[in-house]
Amino acid sequence: MIDSHCHLDLPAFRDDLDAVVKKARELGVKGFLVPGTTAQGWQRQLAIQAQYREVFLAFGWHPWFLPGSISSGLKTLAEVVSKHREHIVAIGEIGLDATVDIPMQIQENWLLEQLNLAQAYKLPVILHQLKTHHRLPALIKQSGFSYGGVIHAYSGNTLMATKYIELGFKLGIGGTITYPRGGKTREALRSIGLASLLLETDAPDMPMCGFQGERNEPARLGQIVKVMSDLFDVGEREIIDKTTDNFYQLFGRLPA
Ligand SMILES: [Zn+2]
Repeated sequence: MIDSHCHLDLPAFRDDLDAVVKKARELGVKGFLVPGTTAQGWQRQLAIQAQYREVFLAFGWHPWFLPGSISSGLKTLAEVVSKHREHIVAIGEIGLDATVDIPMQIQENWLLEQLNLAQAYKLPVILHQLKTHHRLPALIKQSGFSYGGVIHAYSGNTLMATKYIELGFKLGIGGTITYPRGGKTREALRSIGLASLLLETDAPDMPMCGFQGERNEPARLGQIVKVMSDLFDVGEREIIDKTTDNFYQLFGRLPA
């Protein structure tokens, strides 16, 4: 199984990353996609990939951490993408978040620019969204972006999911579905079907049910598999195989 979204570059993992990766490997995690958030993070991501060969990377400006200047921020991103093109499989994590204190118009400009960059490099994107389902599909359409990607930490109904899938996106499924209140999302997933789903933890965030208040880790990815196995009434092996296929379909490269 592959953790399609884990922030191993964050300070939460600085002291024991080796143990975190080892434990996840022992529990069957075969790949880790570490999405970008900031310029310092991109450098740390490269160092992590040099150490663990099953690490995939994406670079991007996360909507929580947009720098003041869009022109210089984009220039820095374009430079690192061009220099390390062979080290990355996507642009991300980018997107819109209605809960942060950055005006939506500014966030939308950033998103459009980063979608353009992804389009120029023929790369898929990792999209973050919070309370912006009413804007995001329209914006993707408006941008003309056509390389697809993943809607990270998907929670929403079937209709919304269908809009993203029609635009070439898959849905990242994480801790939300382990909670009793995740019923709406679980129902949506069942009607959407396994072909559009990826597994993710969003470690160190989004703890699973039963582990609230603790640091989340890729080693817990199996909990998502368990819930999905019950939900789809198929074996865990099938969930793992299908979501792994979906991951490679999108991010295209087999581990060395
Ligand atoms: Zn994230």
